[in-house]
Amino acid sequence: MPERTIYLDHAATTALDARVLDAMLPYFTTEYGNASSIYTLGRHAMQAIDGAREQVAEILNCRPTEISFMGCGSESDNLAIKGIAFTSQKKGSHIVTTPIEHHAVLHTCQYLERFGFKTTYVPVDTYARVNPDDVERAITDQTVLVSVMYANNEVGTIEPVAEIGRICRAKKIPFHIDAVQAGGSLPVDVVALNADLLSLSAHKFYGPKGVGILYVRQGMRLLPQLQGGSQERGRRAGTENVAGIVGAATALRLAYEELPQVMPRIIALRDRLIEGLLTIPGSFLTGHPTERLPNNASFCFEGVEGESILLNLDLLGVAASTGSACTSGSVDPSHVLLAMGLPPEIAHGSLRLTLGKGNTGADVDAMLASVPGIIEKLRALGG
Ligand SMILES: *Cc1c(COP(=O)(O)O)cnc(C)c1O
Repeated sequence: MPERTIYLDHAATTALDARVLDAMLPYFTTEYGNASSIYTLGRHAMQAIDGAREQVAEILNCRPTEISFMGCGSESDNLAIKGIAFTSQKKGSHIVTTPIEHHAVLHTCQYLERFGFKTTYVPVDTYARVNPDDVERAITDQTVLVSVMYANNEVGTIEPVAEIGRICRAKKIPFHIDAVQAGGSLPVDVVALNADLLSLSAHKFYGPKGVGILYVRQGMRLLPQLQGGSQERGRRAGTENVAGIVGAATALRLAYEELPQVMPRIIALRDRLIEGLLTIPGSFLTGHPTERLPNNASFCFEGVEGESILLNLDLLGVAASTGSACTSGSVDPSHVLLAMGLPPEIAHGSLRLTLGKGNTGADVDAMLASVPGIIEKLRALGG
């Protein structure tokens, strides 16, 4: 076993920040009250949740009542889409989204087709960018929701969501942004983004796994998908995950406090990684050259299998991905790369390296020293 893991899969998940753990710990031990209980211990839990909600609302530039805590980013996407779709069914049954969304969005839209909904997938260009004009053209008088991701989790492309939001607002169509991959890296001011609904997940920004955030603009009606108690103003039944909620808010606050220091360093590492690996013959960058997440370096290498690269990197202690964690392990090429128009044989040779605040220049050096040899060896072996 190599002594140290070089972790380059921050798009899949991140390590919990030690300061976030410290903020969470009391709510596992001494402050274990149920936030619905009226005695002091319960009130402490409710105060902690209220404080967390205020912190999140401040960063998102919204009211605390517009923030709900969820069980994960996927749940946040599910509730946004199903919640709006099912309350709007009398008005129409058409949803507009893109083919490069996370499965939490795509599979939710597919599920809704069983209930009579139809989905239009607005195509993307070779950089995985959506054209806002195409979104506008896809909207019909039956459309009840538009859902477009802020930044793609596989290739890192940033979408023109504020512009799409402007179009939706003018047409009075609810607009949902899956900001799970962008959260902690890009500004998440819901007013500037023209968002009606926005999803985040704490484990993508050094918070705990199993905590999602959903912003719902005041006045939006959505049908709850979990029945039970009236927690989260009736939006989500279930005793609140107090420690997780405190962790999510703390992680979000730290991410945006430290963003001006952290991101330039990560961008510099990313650019060196991209420049270095593009010297490999038969390699190219996937996603947009400039409109991309600060931490995302993703590639395709002709004539090799992405999985084979991952296995070789793993032997060197490097944690990387071919694309989304959910499609790894299946042999189908990524739906994102196919939607970008890449031929399947090229899409099979994908490698996604996503940096985080723990990475160093030495990590990049190690990659630049090892990846070219791995590609060469695999090509000599016939892929
Ligand atoms: C990770 C991710 C999700 C799912 O979030 P979970 O908390 O893992 O359920 C949804 N959308 C995008 C873009 C993601 O990157």
